[in-house]
Amino acid sequence: MPRRKRHRLVTREPPVSVYKPAGIPAKELEEILITIDEFEAIRLADFEGMSQRDASTTMQVSQPTFNRILSSARSKIAKGIVQGFVLRIEGGRYVLADGSGLLECLDCGASMDMNAEDKSTCKTCGSKRLRWLRWDKSKRQGDDK
Ligand SMILES: [Zn+2]
Repeated sequence: MPRRKRHRLVTREPPVSVYKPAGIPAKELEEILITIDEFEAIRLADFEGMSQRDASTTMQVSQPTFNRILSSARSKIAKGIVQGFVLRIEGGRYVLADGSGLLECLDCGASMDMNAEDKSTCKTCGSKRLRWLRWDKSKRQGDDK
């Protein structure tokens, strides 16, 4: 049964999008990109203390997929703080749980917030081929409103 497998459901976007080591100019630092869905996996599993089963249901992904997202996120964060890299949290394939709109790039698949300054150009690849995405609320689990 085909479902929306490509986009992970994210409750909210992170409050801060860049963490930078103090006292070192940004141009001398390497950067690690953590996607919004990876951030959400960390938030659910490690911050909220949710089981991987519940967290995978919340994000509308399979448990192995959730595990892969979480492992990737943990490894990037560990690498970043051990080696003193900038951590940038943005992008990835996700839709917001509140149903707010997102733009998806038809060329590279990146998602952009509808509040993005430039709604006509993909931030990731520069493509102009964008389309609106909207999470279908009727498919949400455990929400009978
Ligand atoms: Zn793109």
